[in-house]
Amino acid sequence: MKDDLIVVAGGGGFIGGHLVADLLRQGHTRLRSVDIKPFEEWHQRFPQVENLSLDLRQRESCLTAAKGASLIYNLAADMGGMGFIESHKAQCMLSVLINTHLLMAARESGVQRFYYSSSACVYAADKQTTTELDEGLKEADAYPAMPEDGYGWEKLFSERMCRHFREDFGLTTRVARYHNIYGPHGTWDGGREKAPAAICRKVILAKMAGVKEIAIWGDGKQTRSFTYIDDCLVGTQRLMHSEVTEPLNIGSDQMVTINQLVDIVEQIAGIKLKRTYDLSAPKGVRGRNSNNDRIQQLLHWAPSIRLEAGMEKTYAWIYDQIQSGNKSKQGG
Ligand code: NAD
Repeated sequence: MKDDLIVVAGGGGFIGGHLVADLLRQGHTRLRSVDIKPFEEWHQRFPQVENLSLDLRQRESCLTAAKGASLIYNLAADMGGMGFIESHKAQCMLSVLINTHLLMAARESGVQRFYYSSSACVYAADKQTTTELDEGLKEADAYPAMPEDGYGWEKLFSERMCRHFREDFGLTTRVARYHNIYGPHGTWDGGREKAPAAICRKVILAKMAGVKEIAIWGDGKQTRSFTYIDDCLVGTQRLMHSEVTEPLNIGSDQMVTINQLVDIVEQIAGIKLKRTYDLSAPKGVRGRNSNNDRIQQLLHWAPSIRLEAGMEKTYAWIYDQIQSGNKSKQGG
């Protein structure tokens, strides 16, 4: 129903801001967006929405956030790219308080559906040691558990808590595992940014300064897939309204090396740069791709936006930000 109250936790962040915008576009009239950041730091904010600045690690804040809600999307977490999560493990793990207290509040408030945004970082390290991934990561590959230290353990635990709230307390929960979501309005500098935005920024700054070199983290041969925000929004809402109770990948299966990602950005920018490789920088697992068999089977849908098309829009947006002297809006 268009007048059901929908709560977006982490609505001041990248994905949360886009989700609020999308729900407004669809004609939803009662939206509540909650984030710990002061309003001026939100990636996107809409005056017709009930915007609350609350620390959702606190139980009381979660009760306020959940009051009267039909649906809750939990997109709030203290997170960032590899550079951030490898050096802030305890901080990332404290996001467990957000999901715990939100689940409790959702149950107490009689919320109809609760959505949790997990991550590809839950996948076991021993399934990601090579760049030759024929199949990508299947949902079952999260177990036996050996997730990304800190951030990934918190995600896997919180996924599991959603499952048990559903099984034991009857709360309807849905869980997605996002694979590298990117697009306009994402963080692009300051330390929490991820590879697509970081590479756009580096190429743009090199181009503007007339510098012919770019520094890449790792040897450039590590593989990843990157999911454009519009695909993420479709997948998120389809999963929320589905009957699928198990965690599902929401990720592109267009796997590229970091070098290929740089090729794409160079092509968009119309330049060629000499690459220097920083082998001591944080680089994460060797190879990672999303296997989309399960989502295809259960939702009859999977992300399909090509990296070249999504990066073109992302590059253009970051270019405008840099040109107009803006600073990136940070997560966390
Ligand atoms: P983001 O950092 O832009 O958004 C998260 C938001 O949560 C931030 O605005 C932050 O201020 C808010 N937050 C943090 N602590 C809070 C607290 N105590 N109380 C209230 N709000 C708090 O990140 P995003 O990219 O939009 O990610 C959204 C969700 O998706 C997160 O759970 C993240 O772990 C997950 N995820 C994202 C990606 C990705 O590539 N972007 C990949 C995998 C999983």
